[in-house]
Amino acid sequence: MSPTNKEFIDAVFHTIPKGSFVYGTTFKDPPDVVPNGAWFGGVVKARSLRKPSNYTSGDANCFYVVSTFYPDPTGRVFRRKAQFAAACVLTMDDLGDGPSAKISWDHVKLPPSFVIETSPDNCQAGYILSKPETDADLFNRVVDALIHQGLASPVDPGMVGTTRYVRFPVGINNKTKYDPPHVHVCREWHPERRYSLQDIIDAYGLDLAPPAPVFTRQSAVVDSTEDVYLKCLSDLGLVLTGNLRDGGGFEMVDILCPWHDEHTDRIDVGTVYMIGGGFKCMHGHCIDKTFKHVKTKLAASYGVDTNALDLSIGEAHEAKMLRGLEAITKTLNMRNETDDRGE
Ligand SMILES: [Zn+2]
Repeated sequence: MSPTNKEFIDAVFHTIPKGSFVYGTTFKDPPDVVPNGAWFGGVVKARSLRKPSNYTSGDANCFYVVSTFYPDPTGRVFRRKAQFAAACVLTMDDLGDGPSAKISWDHVKLPPSFVIETSPDNCQAGYILSKPETDADLFNRVVDALIHQGLASPVDPGMVGTTRYVRFPVGINNKTKYDPPHVHVCREWHPERRYSLQDIIDAYGLDLAPPAPVFTRQSAVVDSTEDVYLKCLSDLGLVLTGNLRDGGGFEMVDILCPWHDEHTDRIDVGTVYMIGGGFKCMHGHCIDKTFKHVKTKLAASYGVDTNALDLSIGEAHEAKMLRGLEAITKTLNMRNETDDRGE
């Protein structure tokens, strides 16, 4: 009755937009101690679902993303909003009667397509969508409404909406608090049960928030800048206006927060990049975040090689210092020559 991960992916992603890819990640280290890079993930290749791999071994943490993604202009697929293609499944977490379960079974109003026990007595129910949902905002509003109406458990920031990772039916959960590791159990599997978002809205009586205001986000392109991170933010379409603003002692530019998906109000203003490597976002989740966090985020979610950028800053700095040294040496030599002549 329990599907393999390949059968599962084939059923859940029965139809996907042409040219888009299923995304996931898998690793053997406990999720709560694994280095950030493990969450980076990549396209789930059919080969790794068929051949011996972490996805088939049954002894690794295995996650897929609820949506598919398009490649960027360089052909690379990332789990980011800008590359969203369609959401294919909606999941409800933390169901059950176990100690870590937050939502009781009687909250489930629509027979799920699958139920996976992802930690002891704690289940995730999923609804396979009959038609992939290409409206990310609508999908997010349905998920938000489920959470706000107490029908789904609030998830970790960073795990919400269209880019979230959820667990495969075959795999383990070896968070350090589970000893021995919890082996996933697929409790129900009804791939023939497919639903429209409207079916879910109706069954749960969801009150959706109004559509997010559509910002005609004119991401500015910043050329000829000496600040490689500003250039990088610009390349990612995260710079909102190219105008440098005076921040009192420093210059700053308005950007789209790299965590804007997690802003509870989904409002995209109130974030600045400070020239030279500074960051401030006024949204609740981000208030304590520094540029160091931004670098980690750029590496993990946007595929930016921050080590290379830092190296190039170091080199640019060194070159500047060398030019300065040359200038000083020249001045000193000239002075020496003048002194010589003066004698
Ligand atoms: Zn933010």
